Parts: sequence; C-alpha cells; structure tokens
Amino acid sequence: MMNQLIRTTTKKYIKNISKQIANKPRYFASAEVGERPEPNVCDSLLQIGSRRIYSQEHDMYREMLRNFYDEKVVPFHEEWEDKGEVPRELWTDAGANSMLGVTMPEEYGGLGVDILYSSVNWQEQSYAGTTGPGWALHSEIVCPYILNYGTDEQKQEYLPKLCSGEYISAIAMTEPGAGSDLQGMKTTAIKDGDDYILNGSKVFITNGWLADLVIVCAKTDPTKGAKGISLFLVEAGTPGFTKGKKLKKMGMKAQDTAELFFEDVRLPKSALLGKEGAGFMYLMEELPQERLLIADMGVAAAEACYEWTRDYVKQRKAFGKTLSNLQTIQHKLAEMKTDIVVGRTFADHCLELHAAGKLDNGMASMAKYWLTDLQNKVADDCVQLHGGWGYMWEYPVCRAYVDGRVQSIYGGSNEIMKELIARSI
Ligand SMILES: Cc1cc2nc3c(=O)[nH]c(=O)nc-3n(C[C@H](O)[C@H](O)[C@H](O)COP(=O)(O)OP(=O)(O)OC[C@H]3O[C@@H](n4cnc5c(N)ncnc54)[C@H](O)[C@@H]3O)c2cc1C
Repeated sequence: MMNQLIRTTTKKYIKNISKQIANKPRYFASAEVGERPEPNVCDSLLQIGSRRIYSQEHDMYREMLRNFYDEKVVPFHEEWEDKGEVPRELWTDAGANSMLGVTMPEEYGGLGVDILYSSVNWQEQSYAGTTGPGWALHSEIVCPYILNYGTDEQKQEYLPKLCSGEYISAIAMTEPGAGSDLQGMKTTAIKDGDDYILNGSKVFITNGWLADLVIVCAKTDPTKGAKGISLFLVEAGTPGFTKGKKLKKMGMKAQDTAELFFEDVRLPKSALLGKEGAGFMYLMEELPQERLLIADMGVAAAEACYEWTRDYVKQRKAFGKTLSNLQTIQHKLAEMKTDIVVGRTFADHCLELHAAGKLDNGMASMAKYWLTDLQNKVADDCVQLHGGWGYMWEYPVCRAYVDGRVQSIYGGSNEIMKELIARSI
C-alpha cells in the first residue's frame, strides 16, 4: 500500500517534470540551478542540490533514492554479499518505487523521463557503496535494446515486466575465449526452418544467475564476421538453456555473475531482436550509454570514498593529533578533491551531451577510461589513509577498493577505450 503511494507520488511529480522538460530546450541550466553552490563551498561532494545539470525535481528524486538505499539496501548488503545475490523482492520493491526502467515510455511501464533520472539512481547506488543490485545494467543497457530494436510484441511482452522488477535481465556477449574481441565469439544460432538453434556458452554475465530474460549475442552466419552477429531474447526455462554456478569474484560480491550454457536451444523467429546480422551494429550504438554509466558510477564511487576518508581522518588520532591536522594528509585530501571535481565536471558534461543525444563513442570512451582509472586511484589512496582499518571488510573503503577494480576491465577494457579514442586522432 505504502509502496503504491510512493509510486503514485513519484510518478505524478516526474510526469510534471517531463512536461516542463519538454518545454525547456536547456532544462539542465534552469534559473534555480544557477544558484547552486560550487564544490569548494559545499559541505560534502554528495550534497543534494549542488549540481548544475540537475533540476530541483531531480533532487527530490535523489532524496527519495537516498532514503531507499539507506533503509532498504545498506543494512542488508553484507548478508547478500555472503549469499552472492540480492533477493528478488528488492527488485520488485525497486520497481514499485519507480527505480527501474524510468526512461522507458509510460505505455511500457516506465516514466518516460530523461537519462539524468537514471544517473541519479546509479550515483546514489555508488554513494551507498552497494554494488549488489544490477539495476543499471537491467534498466540502462537491456531495456534500451528492447525499446530501440524490439518489435511491438517484444516491447509489450517484456518492458512492463522489466520496469516492475517482475523480470530480471542480463546481456550475454562475453565468452570464455572472446571478451574484448567480440567478433571471435563461437556461440551460434543457425536457422532451422523458421527457428534458430542456439549453441554455445557465455561467461561473466551480470545478473546471469537471477535472470529471467537474457539478450544473447550469437553468430547467425559464422562466415560473415561482425555482419554475421545477431541478438536473441532468451527466457530462463527455455529447454537447453542452463545456468552454471555463481562465479566467486574479487569484489561486487552481492552481485550475481554467472556462466550460461546453450545446448540445442530452439528459438522461434520471434526471439530475434532487431534484424538478423545487425547485432554488432546495435552493440556499437548502445555501448556509449553503457560506458557513460560505468564512468559516472566510477566518479560517484570516488566521491563517496573521499567523503568516508575525510570523516575518518578527522577522527583518527596519531602522535597526539587527529590525522587531519597533518599537512601531508591535508595535501592528499586536497589532491583527491581536485581530481574528483575535475572528473565530476567532465562526467556531468558527458551526461548533458548524452541527455541531448550528442554523446559519441570517443567521448564515452574518454569518460570510461579516465574516470574508472580515477576511481581506482582514489580508492587506493583512501585505503592507505585508513591504515590497517582500510584493509578490513567492515570499512566501506575496503569494499570500494575491490568493487572498483573491475570497472577498468568490463564494458570494454580501458585499453580498448584508448584504441577507440586513438581512432579519431
Ligand atoms: C564482474 C564482471 C561482470 C561482467 N559482466 C558482463 C556482462 O554482463 N555481460 C558480458 O557480456 N560481459 C560481462 N563481463 C565481461 C567483460 O566485459 C570482459 O571481461 C571484458 O570485455 C574483457 O574481456 P576478457 O575478460 O576476455 O579479456 P581479454 O579480452 O582477454 O583481455 C585481456 C587483456 O588484454 C587487453 N587487450 C585485449 N585486446 C587488446 C587490444 N586490442 N589492445 C590492447 N590491449 C588489449 C585487455 O585490455 C586486457 O587487459 C563482465 C566481467 C566481469 C569481470
């Protein structure tokens, strides 16, 4: 009942905001936003209402999400880390609170709002230090593929279930022998009459263990390289589709990551997502958003690490003083803060570009490479400033250090990002 109330209220004000946005070509620079404090005078980098790209309505949404993470995610996250997954009820709760697929049109169960709302959600998740729920991938990677390339039937069938959290989704590109070099994938979906027969395996699949629906990349024509790759919507329970064990990872322990196996899985023609042979092109079109969200989650994680560390050094005593009184510590904090603010400014610029439909692959790659490297550097410095306590799991910086390590590897490794940036040089 309460959830319904929150959902209705959230829906109502976000709906109003959508109308305002439609009437404002540069809504992210609205008047009230011009009054916002710069980071050097903010009490905290996480201060609500201190970012110029967001409107007051975005801030209200942020406040609701911050409460959600504080009350419903943070207290249970360690328990979920031990289990290697988050409960399904958390997904449906998130759906009821307008946290999933918010950019999807209302007719499909979304809120039809801009990507900045989604960014507020993934930032708040990073601020909370809770990497367990694989919502960003589900809402901002899987849902857009279905919306952009799906048939009306596919959209009607799946998007409402994904927005409500009834269905959990994943995307399966990587294989044991093909990660960066996706064209080397071995999974095939060969035509058999009107059907396709899917064979192969995928690895490292986020949400793979819990997934009800997986977008699977496979070669429909192994002789054609990139032009022979197609995408398929495969439901859990389809005969021949099995899940391997949950993989034990260095970090992000509450997020389920799994191997998936396909053995003679018969798929009807209606399972094909978009056009046959266009899968690789779709991947290239959708990857800038994936990279931006990884980058932005990265800088948000760095902001959180910095704030936890600032609090810590103000309390921790050594040689009769608090650590924050030592000049070397002050300089380290000053360096970190400057680096983060520079990074945050670039991230916000890319978010603005993306909201205006202007973020290209090169800019998204720059953001992904630079901001995830920044995230790892900041996390490393923050662990160092915590001393031995920074190496203890109970401290959020410890988790942030291991959770962040994968950020420069997945979504296209940072070496591949440099390849993409170099192409236009
Ligand atoms: C926790 C986690 C979650 C993931 N989630 C998903 C998911 O949901 N779906 C999915 O499909 N995949 C997922 N992945 C897979 C991830 O995208 C790949 O691991 C990543 O793309 C790298 O591929 P690889 O592991 O095969 O490494 P490789 O491609 O073997 O690369 C190994 C090293 O070589 C470097 N390298 C490779 N090629 C070049 C080159 N041309 N120039 C310079 N250096 C190069 C790489 O940068 C890397 O440092 C996930 C991985 C992890 C760890």
